Amino acid sequence: MFYLLNIFIQMKILLNNTTLFESLRPFNDLGFVPTMGGIHKGHLSLINKSNKLCKKTIVSIFVNPKQFNNKKDLNSYPRNIKKDLKILKKSKKVDFVYLPKFKDIYKDKKKSKITLLKKDKILCAKFRKGHFEGVLDVMSKLTKIVKPKKIFMGEKDFQQLYLVKNELEKKYKTKVIPCKTVRDKDNVALSSRNLLLNKSNLIIAAKIYETLVDIKKNTKNKKNIPSFLNLKKKELKNNYKIKIDYLELRNIKNLKLSNTKNNSRLFIAYYLKNVRLIDNL
Ligand code: AMP
Repeated sequence: MFYLLNIFIQMKILLNNTTLFESLRPFNDLGFVPTMGGIHKGHLSLINKSNKLCKKTIVSIFVNPKQFNNKKDLNSYPRNIKKDLKILKKSKKVDFVYLPKFKDIYKDKKKSKITLLKKDKILCAKFRKGHFEGVLDVMSKLTKIVKPKKIFMGEKDFQQLYLVKNELEKKYKTKVIPCKTVRDKDNVALSSRNLLLNKSNLIIAAKIYETLVDIKKNTKNKKNIPSFLNLKKKELKNNYKIKIDYLELRNIKNLKLSNTKNNSRLFIAYYLKNVRLIDNL
């Protein structure tokens, strides 16, 4: 019986745009999960949601060089297509996997016109110059190619979700659906970059998460939140010997700096062993 079921659950691999256009033509209720591979349970939660809300689910794996502001980071980004495909197939929730080449995405050599507004040059946009311009450009190109009804993205990358949702829903007939952050048993947010960390790094990341929960709780009765967070930033740096790009409380609707815990999230980006990690809670 299981064997019989298995043959009906096919996962088609699309290696170029011609195959993609042919294969996707009959479907207009497509859920799309764009990824850079290193598939983990965070990605799978997006896939599960797509599988529930859409008739067909397509996952893309494309490490987009244009969103990396640092060559070393691009070169060390974890890549293992064989393993990724095995996990996706095993999930039985994926109908198509799109594995584009650079030329499938960037066939027209025109320079992208995407620029960020001054108000959006905050958090990661401030510390990774050109990163979100690259993300918005590739997301726009992928949306034009795949034409999904819904795109599923993680709150783990909250600023990315915020910018992409604003940009794509304005330009295309697609909805961007936010999905909750999936964490490991010690509450470290799952990320492909965690593959670059060892056990003791992950223990530190878990301790940092605990400290962040505490910091967020304590913002409740603070008059001057930025100065409180500045102090906590220094403590985190000294206690864990990490470099911190930012530690800020921001409003979830507009990402403006917030002076109240209500409707706000605490955002952090820090380096553990040269690996840049982000989280928000
Ligand atoms: P990436 O492969 O890192 O570019 O991520 C692809 C998608 O998965 C993005 O929408 C991410 O926000 C989402 N994602 C990554 N990690 C997690 C996580 N731990 N929980 C939920 N979604 C995630």
